[in-house]
Formats: sequence, C-alpha cells, structure tokens
Amino acid sequence: MRYVSTRGAAPVLGFEDVLLTGLARDGGLYVPESWPQFSAAEIRAMRGLPYDEVAVRVMLPFLGDAIPEDAFRAIVRDAYAGFDHAAVVPLVQLDQRTWVLELFHGPTLAFKDVALQLLGRLFDHVLAKRGERVTVVGATSGDTGSAAIEACRDRRNIDIFILHPRGRTSEVQRRQMTGVLSSNVHNIALEGTFDDCQDIVKALFNDAACRDRLKLSAVNSINWARIMAQIVYYFASGVALGAPDRPLAFVVPTGNFGNVYAAYAARAMGLPVERLVVASNTNDILARFFESGTMAMTPVTPTLSPSMDIQISSNFERLLFDLHGRDGAAVDETMRRFRAEGRFRVTDDQLRHALATFSAHRVDEDATMATVAGTKVRCGYTVDPHTAVGVAAARAAADDAGLDPAAALVVLGTAHPAKFPDAVEKATGSRPALPPRLADLFEREERFDVLPNDVAAVQDYVARRARAVTEAA
Ligand SMILES: *Cc1c(COP(=O)(O)O)cnc(C)c1O
Repeated sequence: MRYVSTRGAAPVLGFEDVLLTGLARDGGLYVPESWPQFSAAEIRAMRGLPYDEVAVRVMLPFLGDAIPEDAFRAIVRDAYAGFDHAAVVPLVQLDQRTWVLELFHGPTLAFKDVALQLLGRLFDHVLAKRGERVTVVGATSGDTGSAAIEACRDRRNIDIFILHPRGRTSEVQRRQMTGVLSSNVHNIALEGTFDDCQDIVKALFNDAACRDRLKLSAVNSINWARIMAQIVYYFASGVALGAPDRPLAFVVPTGNFGNVYAAYAARAMGLPVERLVVASNTNDILARFFESGTMAMTPVTPTLSPSMDIQISSNFERLLFDLHGRDGAAVDETMRRFRAEGRFRVTDDQLRHALATFSAHRVDEDATMATVAGTKVRCGYTVDPHTAVGVAAARAAADDAGLDPAAALVVLGTAHPAKFPDAVEKATGSRPALPPRLADLFEREERFDVLPNDVAAVQDYVARRARAVTEAA
C-alpha cells in the first residue's frame, strides 16, 4: 500500500514512513492511494470473530509488506489485552434500533486508547527494526495527555515528555499522567497556561535543528495509523449487528473529524454504511459546514464535552481531498485560503456529494445535560457528556427522512462517565465510580517536574533525558 498527501506535493510513502512521519512535508495529510475492498462474503466471515482477529483482517491490507502477519497479530493482541472488557469494544442497546459502542475500556477511559495503544506498539516495532529512537513531545490541557503517556510508557525506543499547565488540570487528569512512573515517561508541570504549553511544543518542532537533534516525533490525531486503527471498530460493531445484511448508521461525537473519517473509510472499504451523522457540541464548525457548504473558523467556547472543543477540524482535509476528486493542488489552494481568510466554501456539487453520506446535528449544553439525565431514566444507562452529544444527535437523526428504519443506529461512546464525574453527577444526581483499574488512583505515587514557562528550559530538560540524545553514538 502506498500513501499520498492530500496536498499532492509530498513524496509518496509506504506504511512505515507514513507511521513515523505524521504530517506530510507539504503540510498535507497522508491517505491510502486506494481503498482496500472487502466483499460481502468477507465481511460476513468476520461474524463471531474476536476483536483482535477482525482488527488483523481489516488493517493488514494497509501495511503492505511493512510488518509480517504473525508479528502484526502479536502486536494487535498485546495492544488490546490491556482493555478491561472481554469484547474490547462492547455494544449496549438503548432502544429497539439504537446502540452505544463503548470505546472507553482502555487504560485512560476514552476512545483514543483504541488507536493509541496500537500506535505506540507499531512505533516501537518499526523503530526497533530500524535501530532508531524517537522523542515524543506533546502538550495537554489534561484530557489527552494520559492517552499518549499510556501509549508510550515502557516502549523501548520511545521517550515521552508531556507538558501540562501546573495546577490547571483536574486531580484525576493530573494523576492519570503523573501516576505513571515508567522511566521513559516525563511529566512537565509548566508554570503557565495550556496555550503556553502548546506554544513551547510548537517552538520546539518549528526549530529544525532542535527537532533533528532531539529526534522529535508526535502521536497526534492526524497520524494515518490512528485512523486505520479506528476503522476496525466500525467493522466489528457492524457485523455484530448484522452487516453486511443490514444497513448501518453511525453517530459520531466529533471535533477533529478523525473518528467519523474512519467511518467514511470503512464505508469506502465495503461496509454497508447508509449514513454518518456528525454530532457537534456548541463548537459547531462541522454542523455549520454541512448546512451551508462554508467552513468558517470561530472562537472556541468551553463546553461540558471539552475533547470536542476545537476551532479547526484537521482531519476534514482528508474528506476535502475526495470532494476535490483527489486533486492535491485544489486542496492546497483551499487550505491556504482557509488559513488566510478563516473560511472556505465548497461548490454545490461537492456539498451534495458530501450530504449523500453525511448529515450533522448540533447539540447545545442544555440538551447535553438533559440527555445524560434522560438516558439514565429511560435506559438505566449513564453516558458521559461527549457520548450524550451523540445520543441526542441520534434521536434527531432517527427522525430524518430517508433513513432506512431497518438500519441499526450506532452511537460511538467516546468516554467513560467517570471521566467527567461533575457533569454526570449534576445531571443524574449520582457520581459515577471509577472502574476497578483506577480505583487506587488517589493513592498512587506521583512524579513530575515543575518548569518555568521558557522554551530553552524545556529544551534543555528534554535534551538531558531523551535517550535519542543521551545514548546517541
Ligand atoms: C478526542 C475525543 C473526541 C473527538 O474525537 P475526534 O477525533 O475529534 O473525532 C470525542 N470524545 C472524546 C471523549 C474524545 O477524547
């Protein structure tokens, strides 16, 4: 399998290089040159298989000859062995046609674990083969740092440094990061805000000499392998609900468009997905796009579903590439305009094409809280605020004209309710308990270093600890 950039001017790469490169050199995102195809018979044959095995079948065509099948199977098994549910991603039924796909049984209780647990291991495998090491550096407001740390902890060829704003994350968020004592994990509590953390990380990456010396790498949401890993659960849940002999609709609470793009990929590979519903919170840049054909940046408003509070949906560029007939130069021009003017528009034809697959619903804060409360009352089931945005959008989508009444409506459950206990308690009156794997979180020893809000100080800190530097020949 070969991968091309959405902006058409970066080298065509194989899987290994796409994995380690992340962002393409022309500023674009890598996508497969063509979609592997699964016949109805091949999809039917996935019924009843363990999640690992579906994962191997779905992802193998994307690897080319980068990793032999047996080695890949071992990596996949290891990645999902740490999930605390035997089904890895179980389905829970809400009403006669609606299910929640629980993606939060990994180490940090959110769906990013599904992709990141695999990504860390794939990095390690490829780096070992090449005899290389990398230094992962990232910033977090508290929400996503732990997923990256859990992905990289104890990996032999990766050191990870995560900056969080000192005193500005919740205690659970902080402890999920600082309670990891692995020697290759370095938590930095920065004397500053989340924006300061991000600015420092950007400064390190933008300094080419520093980037090369520290062998900097990111495990960010635009990495192709993350999308690849997310495609799997659309197949796994689809066959469990009767695909390919039953149509499916997925409702995806999204901000960056990553998760719902993976659903689009599953559809392109042959899964009978009739509709993809984009569920937005108050930060509704995507919902406004699907209404109007115009993508327009606006300031971010903090919400109860913070992991969807984004200004730009970076993965949308991958869909845009297809809407432009895979013309990289056209995407490049559109993205330049977006950066310069804060907006772009697609043609009526392109919008019509997108609306053949996608619809979108915006769910405000009151509706989110009412859905957390109502789902508990109606179904005896507690959802977190992100999943609630999806459940509310699913109820709206169920009434959409044209949706096959026989279609199974699957809402992606992106976080465990115990990850957002305050909102859940306010809505339902009871505080969700942490699952057993995190029950001792508040007793765990913590390790972190406090650093000033200063690029040079952080750079020096990383250089003294990153094995890519200290053990370089
Ligand atoms: C990251 C995240 C999302 C949004 O995912 P996208 O990649 O933006 O689609 C939704 N819910 C939770 C809990 C998340 O952590």
